[in-house]
Amino acid sequence: MQNPLRDFGPVAVAAPLPRRSRQAKITWGSRIVTVGGDAPVRVQSMTNTDTVDAIGTAIQVKELAQAGSEFVRITVNTPEAAAAVPYIREQLDRMGESVPLVGDFHYNGHRLLTEFPDCAQALSKYRINPGNVGKGDKKDKQFGQMIEAAMRWNKAVRIGVNWGSLDQDLLASLMDANSQRAQPWEARQVMYEALITSAIESARLAESMGLSGDQIILSCKVSGVQDLIAVYRELARRCDYALHLGLTEAGMGTKGTVASSTALGILLQEGIGDTIRVSLTPQPGEARTQEVVVASEILQSLGLRVFVPSVTACPGCGRTTSTTFQELAKQIDDYLRAQMPVWRVRYPGVEGMKVAVMGCIVNGPGESKHADIGISLPGTGEAPAAPVFIDGEKALTLRGERIAEEFHALVEQYVERRYGRH
Ligand code: SF4
Repeated sequence: MQNPLRDFGPVAVAAPLPRRSRQAKITWGSRIVTVGGDAPVRVQSMTNTDTVDAIGTAIQVKELAQAGSEFVRITVNTPEAAAAVPYIREQLDRMGESVPLVGDFHYNGHRLLTEFPDCAQALSKYRINPGNVGKGDKKDKQFGQMIEAAMRWNKAVRIGVNWGSLDQDLLASLMDANSQRAQPWEARQVMYEALITSAIESARLAESMGLSGDQIILSCKVSGVQDLIAVYRELARRCDYALHLGLTEAGMGTKGTVASSTALGILLQEGIGDTIRVSLTPQPGEARTQEVVVASEILQSLGLRVFVPSVTACPGCGRTTSTTFQELAKQIDDYLRAQMPVWRVRYPGVEGMKVAVMGCIVNGPGESKHADIGISLPGTGEAPAAPVFIDGEKALTLRGERIAEEFHALVEQYVERRYGRH
């Protein structure tokens, strides 16, 4: 038999390509967060509270931040909302929450940022939609007022183009030009061009007004997976601004999660994207923080970031007729996630821990040995015993009705022993 190792050589290791963007700086007070270049890909989210409700908004911002969101965007749509922004910042600081706030402006941002200097100052970044800054002669003037506010307060801006609010004058002129071509492009290719042109020309205009390139982040959001991939590949080819990535209106539940994961996963693997948001429509009763959970799981599953300990659980099959292992896997996953705001500080490195919860003897012991701590539950017809593996070795066997609680306690002891400061 031939030696396959000699014939084929080693299998290439898969990893995301290095990112190509320049670094942008988000500053507020004495703090600076970098985005792009070799900075970690960062998670963003957005509140769905009424910004005028400063306390309610601050509470949701804190929940999103504790779930792992590194920037939180809030709607700033009225004078009342702009007036509430400094109180939201103050409330967060009082709660010990330093997450940067991003103001989302449309139509009247130039007025709000000029008339409410405390709002302009309290925000860390302004999102400007070039399709919604004004029409005709007013467009550049009003855009310029927002850029002036960013320069005055030393803030970053995200020039966020969205196909639902695309600059209609620009689109019309590109459509006209396309109709003159001997072989006109498809309508969606003209739309791609309009999105990219709007973002890059607005960024160049902002730079010509004096804003530094390292205060600019671009996004071009669409709701189709293939459209997003096409637009961002070209956007990344044509410029080196830091890029914010996300499917707009991704949808609800499984559909929104899968569509966002597919689109973002492909682009991030190609080294495209410096911040991400998963725009999930919350299902009734679902926490707003679910979009942060999905975004961080995308980065963690690609090996780009580590946010929470991972739980490896088997899918179950005909060998598991009880729901015990499903319940235990869920309990452990929920427990680990809930502990992270405290554990991050108390147990440095715990986010890299691997826990396995397996359903039977077929893959249970093997998978559990690969984890830092793992349990192999008894499948149907197996002896009612659950071996626990710690650091690759069988440590003990749990039996009886309280296997779940006892395993839970073992995980806690493991975390304290391995990651606690002794
Ligand atoms: S580990 Fe056992 S229960 Fe789980 S999927 Fe494999 S065979 Fe089925």
